Amino acid sequence: MLLQLLAENVPHRIYAKDICGRFIFANQAAAQGMGVREPADLIGKTDFDFYPLEAATKYAAEEQKVLVDGQPLLDHEEQVDYLLFGQQTWLMTTKVPLRDTEGCVVGLVGINYDITSGKLAEKALRSANQQAEAAAAELARMVARLRAEMAERQRVEVELRRRALHDDLTGLPNRCLLMDRLELSIKHARRDGQSVTLLFLDLDRFKHINDTLGHAVGDELLKGVAERVEKCLRQSDTLARLGGDEFVVVLPNTIAGDDLAVLIQRISRAVAEPLLLAGELVSVNCSLGCATFPQDGADGTTLLQFADAEMYRAKQQARRSSNGLSVVREPATEDSQEIEAQLCHALRRNEFRLQFQPQVDMRSGEIVGVEALIRWQHPQWGLVPPLRFIPIAERCGEIGRIGEWVLREACTQAMAWQRAGLTPVRMGVNLSAQQFLDTRLEALVAQVLADTGLPAEWLELELTESVSMRDPEASIRILGRFRAMGIKLAIDDFGTGYSNLASLLSFPVDRVKLDRSFICELGSKDNCAAMVESVVSMMHRLQLEVVAEGVETAEQLAVLASFGCDAMQGYWFARPLDANACEAMLAAHQAGSKAAA
Ligand code: C2E
Ligand code: CA
Ligand code: CA
Repeated sequence: MLLQLLAENVPHRIYAKDICGRFIFANQAAAQGMGVREPADLIGKTDFDFYPLEAATKYAAEEQKVLVDGQPLLDHEEQVDYLLFGQQTWLMTTKVPLRDTEGCVVGLVGINYDITSGKLAEKALRSANQQAEAAAAELARMVARLRAEMAERQRVEVELRRRALHDDLTGLPNRCLLMDRLELSIKHARRDGQSVTLLFLDLDRFKHINDTLGHAVGDELLKGVAERVEKCLRQSDTLARLGGDEFVVVLPNTIAGDDLAVLIQRISRAVAEPLLLAGELVSVNCSLGCATFPQDGADGTTLLQFADAEMYRAKQQARRSSNGLSVVREPATEDSQEIEAQLCHALRRNEFRLQFQPQVDMRSGEIVGVEALIRWQHPQWGLVPPLRFIPIAERCGEIGRIGEWVLREACTQAMAWQRAGLTPVRMGVNLSAQQFLDTRLEALVAQVLADTGLPAEWLELELTESVSMRDPEASIRILGRFRAMGIKLAIDDFGTGYSNLASLLSFPVDRVKLDRSFICELGSKDNCAAMVESVVSMMHRLQLEVVAEGVETAEQLAVLASFGCDAMQGYWFARPLDANACEAMLAAHQAGSKAAA
């Protein structure tokens, strides 16, 4: 009786079953747990009356062990699907055999503790922990990715800065870095009452070597010269390459007249020593001009001009003194003033032409655009390369009219191809600094589009990094307005005029054209490949397309394709072509693509 009272009042489920699994006793908690009102409702019933078949079979098998083998089941934890109530319950179950006076098993006694709340709490905790762990892992991944991206960007910045200040071929400081160092030396010299000496060095007849032995030999010669001159200098001196075969030395501290003469002689001798290039002994002489601060000029530009003029005088003298035999008449095109004078008439005389160089999508192989490149067919000089006259046209202000001609001509051509039934391709037009900064440019572009009928989306304006970086805020405004008109925009010669990557990347442009100097180094310098790969992935993260310029070999193409570069332009696919040849190429390509489709 006491036992019965006890069993009725404890909150755990207590029950007894006979050898066939029928309830012979149950307390109130057990009845409630099984979903019935009274313990009496359980008596004589089995688990099969309450549980789904699968669950009841499982419990019966468990109980068989207790009933047949006499083995108790102790503290067994299990999850019960109480479909009866639609709720999940966890129970801690103990079932022990019920024996008669002779020790034979006649049934079992079971006690179930409801551990649901503890289990739910534990489960909630576990899931919260898992979520927290997942969030922490995701955060760690994000931080690692950001760190890697930042490190990559920093590497790219450092490399771009190095490139912007150094000459690609020799690795020497370029004009920009030279002027910086020169001005600094002048500042120090002014403060300390010292002098600065500048040497301007130009190789004699370098053009001849380049023309007869080829550019590769010419390049090797320039590298050789750079190395030799450098060996003649002190650590504090700067040797720079201005471009072509012109080098400049800055000697920052006062150097006595005799020492200077000795140094000049040493440099001349070092340069003149024969070099073995492509199996041939090649030797060149150089002409040197000298300027000293403060006597010959008070600033870097004046000193440089002075030394240049001195060098030129020395060269003329050397020619005269060598019996006149090696006097080469410089072609008139060498003379900037002559070019300037002739440029004014070139438009009127209809001497300009456009050529078009195709751009190819790396994945589809289709021509997706062409770049318009100006040519000057001079009646006496022949073809004058754009790099020879564009800077002069910029200086003398003629570029505005020339640029307008190019824009109009290119848009007219693009529209003519469309009217002839060709699938439209983008027409790339180069903008010079002057044009870009001219407030009338926007109106001009709109006018040309209206006049020619070319839809804005097929015009792409190319502007170089250095131009856009002159006034980044103004550039963003101007570019934004072009973009609003639907015109495409590209940063040209990317990687040559670097000043600030972050602001450059905030420009609203569609594509960057990776400069040729990267591409031609692709095969030869490992760090260049890594750099190009970084740039491509960085641009892609910014949703910018990358066009590789100056692709000349299948190897370069393969490397670029493996980096995911989007498009390419270069001799490997096609040189710049005149309008007819380009039209034929477009037509043939488009017919081929249609047939393949
Ligand atoms: P850019 O805008 O970088 O044009 C690409 C130059 O690379 C072109 O030289 C083209 O002929 C050359 N090129 C293309 N593929 C290869 C290649 O595989 N290998 C090599 N070695 N060169 C390749 P181009 O026509 O002599 O033009 C030189 C520069 O003159 C142009 O460089 C551009 O800055 C300027 N330019 C040309 N046309 C115009 C123009 O209409 N307006 C302005 N403002 N500048 C122009
Ligand atoms: Ca260009
Ligand atoms: Ca370019």
